[in-house]
Amino acid sequence: MSKQICFGVDLGGTKIELLALDEHSSECYRKRIATPRGDYQATLTAIVTLIEQAEHMLGVQGHVGIGTPGVVSQLTGRMKNCNSVWLNHQPLRDDLESRLQRPIKLANDANCFALSEATDGGGQGASVVFGVILGTGVGAGLVVNRSIINGANGITGEWGHNPLPWPADNEIPGPECYCGRSGCVETWLSGPGLVNDYVREMDVSFKSDGDIKLSAQAVIKLAKAGDKLAVDCLNRYVDRLARGLAQVINIVDPDVIVLGGGLSNCDFLYTAVPQRWSQYVFSDEVKTRLVAPKHGDSSGVRGAAWLAATINADGLGIA
Ligand SMILES: [Zn+2]
Repeated sequence: MSKQICFGVDLGGTKIELLALDEHSSECYRKRIATPRGDYQATLTAIVTLIEQAEHMLGVQGHVGIGTPGVVSQLTGRMKNCNSVWLNHQPLRDDLESRLQRPIKLANDANCFALSEATDGGGQGASVVFGVILGTGVGAGLVVNRSIINGANGITGEWGHNPLPWPADNEIPGPECYCGRSGCVETWLSGPGLVNDYVREMDVSFKSDGDIKLSAQAVIKLAKAGDKLAVDCLNRYVDRLARGLAQVINIVDPDVIVLGGGLSNCDFLYTAVPQRWSQYVFSDEVKTRLVAPKHGDSSGVRGAAWLAATINADGLGIA
């Protein structure tokens, strides 16, 4: 049987994007719509309609992979850990399978990012790829030989909620995290974590001068313009990222680490962090490569399509 069309759907908090890859793995259709926020039934209908429209246009039926901000609970089969909170506790996979009349595959969006970059992105050709998202939060996915590793608890790659390793005295206990603990990697290495680190060092009188609205990109810009506080802040960021990733290397020992999310645009990270991480990695040499993403914002939807490609001709998931 010839290869089928594979649909990837990136279900995000603000937009739903659909991408179709043809039998040559080339992009043949793409559409993006707004997410019906807060409305689960409307979200289901929006996804089903996107796929039906694409199938009508292309004249074929395809396999479907979905990337979401959460995961399917292995206990209940319902969604959990979604920041699009109206999806939580809903049987999203079952409902879509019944509406679309076929098996689908569903994975966390960080896993989709890692799968996309491992398949034909920054980690192409590598056996073990750890894909890290440094954005509003910090997430990651692990892909081995082009398969997502989900883990016994479905949480592989959740390094963002480990404590920052090798902390200095002034990094303990660290900022409070929404997960209920303090000093999580995410509280230091997310975009808001970087901004908070900068703001903490600012002059107190300036801080009390009203609301400070800063972005991670603004701090990076300030550093490039020579602002000493921003330069110091980015140096701390590089060292913390080096420590966080060194701990990943000590456990997983990946061939490639691909960065994604807003902070992956910082070119200097790809040289500065590997220069720093060797002092923390338990090895006399570090061959792991730190690379930029190839597909940028498209990685989530591309990974979802690659996930669909793991559904075999009988409709059975093989990943
Ligand atoms: Zn946490």
